[in-house]
Amino acid sequence: MAQREVMVQSQLINRDISDTATLAAMRKVLRHEFVPENIRDMAYADRALSIGFDQTISQPYMVAAMTQELKLKPGSKVLEIGTGSGYQAAVLAEITDSIYTIEIVESLGKLAKERLKRLGYDAVLVKLGDGYHGWPEKAPFDAIVVTAGAETIPLPLVEQLKEGGRMIIPIGPHNGVRQLIRVVKRNGKIKTKEMMAVRFVPFTRIKEH
Ligand code: SAH
Repeated sequence: MAQREVMVQSQLINRDISDTATLAAMRKVLRHEFVPENIRDMAYADRALSIGFDQTISQPYMVAAMTQELKLKPGSKVLEIGTGSGYQAAVLAEITDSIYTIEIVESLGKLAKERLKRLGYDAVLVKLGDGYHGWPEKAPFDAIVVTAGAETIPLPLVEQLKEGGRMIIPIGPHNGVRQLIRVVKRNGKIKTKEMMAVRFVPFTRIKEH
């Protein structure tokens, strides 16, 4: 599709996306299948789009930048927090065949699950719930990507990261500009690096009783 190729060239290659697996995945995934029908003509625009329930599908560049930083190999086991539309999960699934994703908004999670199944992304397992706790039964993960903005790095996610594993997470004040942080775990300790200023919908929590 011409629009998708233009998106890859102008929004990704012309910026700083050079990883061939990431670019191939972004060329392949039918982004228009992941946005509501009434705004399909905007699917390849250089921006985040509303997917209902006060949530968004991230801007193509953000999806590519996060994917590229995870440095995945075929066979890498990945955990995503914030399934949303399922688009980021589909991009990951073009690179590796072991994707676990958690969505806190039940209706969104159900829609994403159906959509991913319909499009043939059988490698993606969707769970409904609060991603703060990660997915301990499936841990440890080679990579974790959080697609909602948190105030601090959830400890369970650090624990579920493999030695040498990488996590990408937007961190900062509620509703403010956050920093996209890359976390690398070595010898049980984490090293963090700020990548860029970003805006994301907030990471929410299910209240515990
Ligand atoms: N990766 C998505 C982007 C979705 S926006 C895509 O490609 O479309 C972020 C999503 O994170 C929202 O759907 C929001 O409901 C979800 N979210 C927020 N806090 C969460 C939490 N604690 N656990 C799981 N999902 C969460």
